[in-house]
Amino acid sequence: MILIDGKKAAAELREELKHEVEGLKAKYNKVPGLTVILIGDLTPSQIYVRNKEKSANEVGLKSEVLKYPDSVEEKTILEKIEELNKDETVSGILVQLPLPKHIDKQKVIETILPSKDVDGFHPMNVGNLSSGYESSVPCTPLGCYLLIKKVEPNLSGKKAVIIGRSNLNGKPMTQLLLKENCTVTITHSKTKDLKAECLEADIIVAAVGIPELVKGDWVKKDTIVIDVGINKIENGIVGDVDFDEVSKNAKALTPVPGGVGPMTIACLLKNTIECFKRSQI
Ligand code: NAP
Repeated sequence: MILIDGKKAAAELREELKHEVEGLKAKYNKVPGLTVILIGDLTPSQIYVRNKEKSANEVGLKSEVLKYPDSVEEKTILEKIEELNKDETVSGILVQLPLPKHIDKQKVIETILPSKDVDGFHPMNVGNLSSGYESSVPCTPLGCYLLIKKVEPNLSGKKAVIIGRSNLNGKPMTQLLLKENCTVTITHSKTKDLKAECLEADIIVAAVGIPELVKGDWVKKDTIVIDVGINKIENGIVGDVDFDEVSKNAKALTPVPGGVGPMTIACLLKNTIECFKRSQI
């Protein structure tokens, strides 16, 4: 079984991006800039943002984090986004989710210029992705896609089963694999026989949020299994895939932690650089 090392893949991607940033700096005499807006003091959000900032600095991006208290008014955030939209030194804007209840997430997402939407959540980017046009792609599915391509560069004709239909993971993952000419089945909580669907799959991407849902006997011998889940249990963190069981059957599998997670941040940097490059044309 191939253990898909997301940490290693992310480090390789960051190294590539670092060289790319050096090239862009030499060509344009400026570097891509990422601005992250962090509202409130939720510990996981703070950790994510710290890691994003650290990785952005590592590849040579200009990065800043704007912090606001939980009580900040929606209007203040929207005005700041408008200001960042106009700022030529800012290539990408990310508002760390979740937001406090009094702030309308969709309004925030739609205020970010699509060309600076490094999360790929703006309806314009969602539409472009599903129409097969150039767009920012949500970072986690983009990371999954790059990991799958490392194991199997030619995905044409493969059967993929996506577990979960969230806007964040399942739906964009479907679009990416469709573009690669996979035959994609998207499953969800109302799917009648998930095991039977999985047994048909050459590729399974599990983005559910249920600890160890995917069992060993759900997976064929030659299946690539990507585990997006991050679930806290009593003695640590597990994915949506039963690692011990599935690793005995699958062709390739991502561990949790150390699989998809590290790629998510590396893909955010990639998206920032892509936004910068598109803005220079
Ligand atoms: P979400 O928005 O809660 O969506 C979960 C999806 O799973 C829904 O579409 C739901 O179906 C489906 N589902 C629930 N129970 C199911 C079942 N028994 N069988 C089949 N499908 C079922 O979750 P998300 O935001 O996509 O996140 C999924 C997991 O990924 C979470 O563990 C999250 O922490 C993790 N995550 C990881 C990263 C990373 O960087 N590695 C990034 C983001 C998220 P319905 O639509 O019918 O409700």
